[in-house]
Amino acid sequence: MDAIFDLTGKVALVTGGSRGIGKEIVNTYAAQGATVVIASRNIDDCNNAAEEVIQKSGKALGVRCDIANLEDITNMYKTVVEEFGQLDIVVNNAGVSITKPSVEVTSDDWDFMFNINIKGLFFSCQEAAKIMMEQGNGKIINVSSIGGLKTFKRIAPYGASKAAVIHLTKSLASEWARYGIFVNGIAPGLISTDINTEEIGDERLLQKMLKMIPLRKLGAPSDIACMALYLASDASNFMTGQTISIDGGVTAE
Ligand code: NAP
Repeated sequence: MDAIFDLTGKVALVTGGSRGIGKEIVNTYAAQGATVVIASRNIDDCNNAAEEVIQKSGKALGVRCDIANLEDITNMYKTVVEEFGQLDIVVNNAGVSITKPSVEVTSDDWDFMFNINIKGLFFSCQEAAKIMMEQGNGKIINVSSIGGLKTFKRIAPYGASKAAVIHLTKSLASEWARYGIFVNGIAPGLISTDINTEEIGDERLLQKMLKMIPLRKLGAPSDIACMALYLASDASNFMTGQTISIDGGVTAE
């Protein structure tokens, strides 16, 4: 059974792989034998995360890329091809959120979230697909959010950008299936990372949020990384266009 999750010989790129959920996905893939490329805006963080993988006898490379910058995206994919000559798995995980009442959202807030969460993600998928079409195979995994499936107060633009990710995942899966490219997504619920330190650090808010989660607990990055492994592996070879919620039951209600 373990062999079906084996990623030996595969090259995987994880955007936002330097911290939080992305870093856990990086470590999970590396533990399964994949060579991992770790991308974010901060090259030192990427290199440190790569060094941790290498210390455990894995293979890893850090690459600086601001996913909101289309030239950075092109250069990142160029580097992957130059270094490894193949690309089997891409996890579009980099994402940002601004929490505030909708009446206070500025045009800059909107552009910041949409440029990273959906525009950058789309052009990352596009560059990945160009390589994967030539290979005749590839797995793309887009990290959305349950905020793209349900409404939550004070994150309307974030939720809209993540709903767009779910739609895009379906469209690209349908368009690229004939090239052997799988496109699936994950919609995490509340996972303890840097993105929500403020909310989780506020005990009153935390208790309020826990009441909305049927399992009455926060998720861990590993809960998401396990699904990212399934979607990257041969175990998911009859699945495309789907976005799976991992949320302690929130979207079941
Ligand atoms: P995190 O701990 O804040 O990590 C975000 C990662 O993305 C970091 O590596 C960050 O590195 C990178 N990043 C941010 N902006 C970037 C940009 N413009 N270009 C390249 N990399 C960028 O967040 P997380 O909680 O792990 O979230 C990961 C994904 O899960 C996001 O898409 C988020 O929306 C989604 N999600 C998270 C939760 C949750 O509860 N944690 C729930 C639902 C969905 P730099 O800042 O150094 O660039």
